[in-house]
Order: sequence, then structure tokens, then C-alpha cells
Amino acid sequence: LTIVELELRPPAYGEVLVEIVAAGICKPDLDAWSGANPAIRFPAIFGHEGAGVVRSAGKGTRLLAGEHVIPLFMPHSILGETRPRLAHCIDDNRATKAKRPLLNEQRRFRSDARTIFAHPGCSTFSKYIVFPEAALAKVRQDAPLDRVCIACTVATGLEAVLGQAKLGRGAKVVVLGLDPIGLNVLQASRMIGADMIIGVDLNTARRSLGQKFGMSHFINPNTVGSDRLAEAILDLTKSGADFVFDCGPVAGLNQMVELGLGRKVSRAVRQQSAGTRTGWPAARNFYKVRSFCETGDGAMISRIVDWYMEGIINLDDIITSTLPFERINDGFSMAGERDSLSTVLKF
Ligand SMILES: [Zn+2]
Repeated sequence: LTIVELELRPPAYGEVLVEIVAAGICKPDLDAWSGANPAIRFPAIFGHEGAGVVRSAGKGTRLLAGEHVIPLFMPHSILGETRPRLAHCIDDNRATKAKRPLLNEQRRFRSDARTIFAHPGCSTFSKYIVFPEAALAKVRQDAPLDRVCIACTVATGLEAVLGQAKLGRGAKVVVLGLDPIGLNVLQASRMIGADMIIGVDLNTARRSLGQKFGMSHFINPNTVGSDRLAEAILDLTKSGADFVFDCGPVAGLNQMVELGLGRKVSRAVRQQSAGTRTGWPAARNFYKVRSFCETGDGAMISRIVDWYMEGIINLDDIITSTLPFERINDGFSMAGERDSLSTVLKF
């Protein structure tokens, strides 16, 4: 990655100029960078986690200079209002229009020599962005932007539990993989009042970490024997888990599913794993945690920031490094390390 200076088109109707204060490095950024995501066109400005301050706004906008915002990949909500997704798409012309140019956007940033693509639409690894107001979530002014900027990771985990699975009190939950998304599934399960929250990870250091996020039991498949993972879960739960969240590759997973501990949810499985996983037998309540990209709810983001400020959710222990933006390459290297969780870049 290199840092260059580019020209940025000023905000047009319905758009806002945002100064990014902090940005998180999230897994899809690594996939985009490594070429694992074939949809990416280069040269591109990555970054889809960020938080910043409104500097100016085009006509037809309601956000004011100085207000704090978090950009979303998909415009769903304006100023944190809650609206049904479908209705919003139909009734808000700005949102519908804004949705299209986000991915691989090539008109916002300019360079003399080359076309610059924005991926995945947000380009939060840029000190300034011009963004549709409809794709900005307004957040409270007192929230530290270098913490709440990891919104994608947090929303993905919380949404899986609160939105997708609609977990109920007293549930028995298994979380496979305790990376940042898995940790957020843990804390959402705790919020909802799950009875038993079992974390599964190959890294034993995740035991004490998981406990901070509400995990009640920990299983390392390497310790119990990866072929005995399902048995270990049955030992704890007696009748099996009510909900299984797949948040990362863990040995023994297929065997668990075959034993009927989880149910394939087609919407959740479709993304990236459809080819390898559609053969799973149907059981109950199995969730492949999908990308927040598909949920993109501004009201949810504003709520998450409130929850953090009220001490209901933990973001501090998810952020393992904070670096000046100039060290973005170090950030990308660190993001792949075993004990690294989220890395935040500060401008
Ligand atoms: Zn992300």
C-alpha cells in the first residue's frame, strides 16, 4: 500500500464531505489487498470501517458541519432513523441512487494519470471522503471515534444474534471461532440473557478473552480432540445447543453439524461458502455469520455506539493495536497475526 495525494470531487446534491478521524482494518480489506476478492479493481482505496466529522454538505442534506458520523457500505438510514429496509429503498430516492455507485466507485477520487476505485465504496483509508448522506450514521458527539470506528466488526456479530437469529433468553449458544466477530456474538448472547455461551477456538489465549465478553464455557478442539468436539458440546449442553454461530474455520465443525447441532440458514450460508457447505444436512439453528455489508443499518450503528458509551458492550478489548495512519502497512501485517484482533488507524 502506498499513500498518495488525490483530488476529491466536492459533495454534490445529497452528499457530505467527511474528515475521517480513525479507520479500522477489517478482514475484507485484507482479502481485497491480497487479491482473494476478484471483484476489486485496482488501483483502489480500501477501508470500510471508519468514523469522522462532517466538514461540509451539499444541497438537500440535513447533517451539519461538526457532527460525527460513521459511513455504511449501503445506505439504509438517514441520521439514525429507523425505517424498514424495503420501504426505505422504495421511498428514499437519494438512498436508492446512492446505493449504486458505492462499489468500485470511480468518480469521487481523481488522479491525473489513473482511474481510482473506491472499495468497498467507503474508502475510509482516506483522510477525506465524499459520501451520500443516506449512507452515514450520525453518532453521539462524546463517543471516541478511534473506538467506535470498528462498527462493521461489531455490527456483524451483534446483528447475527439480535437480528438474524433473534436469540431468546435462556438459550444455549455455541460460537465457533473467537475472532472479533465471534467475540461480538458472545457479548450479544450475554446481552440477550443466554444461559450457556460456549466458545470454541484453537487458540487457548481466547479463553480468558472470551470470558470478558460473556463466554461461560470454552472448548479447544485440539485439547478435546477435534473428532470429539460435538461430544464435548453435548456433554455441556446435555440436549445440544439451541444456536450455533460459525464465525471462523474450526476443525470438527462439519461433524458438529452432521450431528444435528445446527441448522443451515440459506441466507447466511450463501455468502462465500455456498459451494462447499450446501451439502450440510438440515438441523436446527445454524448460522454462518454473514457480512454486515448485507445488513447495513444506520440505526443499529447509532445504537451500538450508545451501548458502548453506556458500558453495555466492550470494544476496548477488541482493539489490540492503534497506529498512526502512516503505518498502514504495519497494520495490514499485524491484522494477520494470531493474537491480533482489530487494528485501528488514526489520522
Ligand atoms: Zn468489515
